[in-house]
Amino acid sequence: MICAECGDELEKSYAPIETAFRGTMVVVEGVEHFVCRSCSEVFFNGGQADDFADAVDAAYRRANGLLAPDEIRRIRKQLRMNQDEFQSLLGVGKTTVSRWESGRIIQSKSTDNLIRLAAASRDNVELLRKSAAHGNSFPVQASARSEWAGRSKSRNVTLIGLHGER
Ligand SMILES: [Zn+2]
Repeated sequence: MICAECGDELEKSYAPIETAFRGTMVVVEGVEHFVCRSCSEVFFNGGQADDFADAVDAAYRRANGLLAPDEIRRIRKQLRMNQDEFQSLLGVGKTTVSRWESGRIIQSKSTDNLIRLAAASRDNVELLRKSAAHGNSFPVQASARSEWAGRSKSRNVTLIGLHGER
């Protein structure tokens, strides 16, 4: 194979490749690709490009502390939920969980936190369940509501820490 940039020979390589993905620099190691022996341009064939994309996703997840697809599946199974039930628990759209579990999309950091909270305790799952039953807004206890209402009406509210150190 010939380099599309300079016309020299391409060689098979497994060297680390550094790339930017969603604003994060990631290093992917051990993925087969071709590299030009003169200009160092990197090329992929179809199968290699798929492997590279998967490896970039995995490196991005690791760099950002996000659960891997099989970890999400394992947590869902531990909670004894099917994908629909898990979706409604987390308040995410139809087919989202199947896309996470197949690695086709990557969950946000905030949703990742939610999944970890659900995995951490049954109480959290129950809280999320109640929230899902209310259209995914956390039910606020009456006492908390009235306390907040009282404070927001007060004329002597002091906001601390908004204007730098004291
Ligand atoms: Zn070249």
